Parts: sequence; structure tokens; C-alpha cells
Amino acid sequence: MHKQPSIEYKLIGALSLRDANHMSKKFTVNIEREACIADGACAALCPEVFELNEDDGRAQITKQWRLSDENLGEGAIPEQYVECAKVAAEACPVQVITVREEDA
Ligand code: SF4
Repeated sequence: MHKQPSIEYKLIGALSLRDANHMSKKFTVNIEREACIADGACAALCPEVFELNEDDGRAQITKQWRLSDENLGEGAIPEQYVECAKVAAEACPVQVITVREEDA
């Protein structure tokens, strides 16, 4: 006789699905560096994600989260830094920072 899955089994299945959904989220950050006025607000508010370039003084994504060395303004960040990246984006006086949540 076919047995119904136990309640524990169903619960574990639901939790795994939730984690899988969570894992499939991707957070990207973009700085239009050409338009950055180098005031440093983003780096002051969210230094885990933003820093100022030593040569031109403009903002760039910290090396840890930068997607490539060709585009210093493009990064992918973990969820724990999304809030501070958004605060920095809001504070940017020329509004050149974009934070996006995308499906991977
Ligand atoms: S807050 Fe905006 S203008 Fe200021 S350094 Fe960051 S990206 Fe540039």
C-alpha cells in the first residue's frame, strides 16, 4: 500500500524549495562612473560595496564584488549588503547608482 509522505518530509521539501528560490536571486549594482562627481558619499555610507578609485577619484565597486576589471562600476553583491547599497544609491547626489534584484 502506498504511504503518504510524512508531515516532516513535506516540511523539509517546502524549506528546500524556499532556499532554492532564495539562492536564485541575484543582486547587481551599477555605477555610471562617467557621471560620478567623486564626492565619496557612497563609499562613506557603504564601504563594503563602494570605494573611490585612487587615480580618478570616482566611485567603483570594491574588488571583492566587482564583476570584472574592465568595468569598475559593475558588481554583484550578497543580500546582506543590498540595504546599504540602496542607502548609498539614494544618497548619491547625481543618482548614478542602480541596485537591481534579478532572477539568476
Ligand atoms: S555618491 Fe554618487 S557621485 Fe558620490 S562618489 Fe558615489 S557614485 Fe560618485
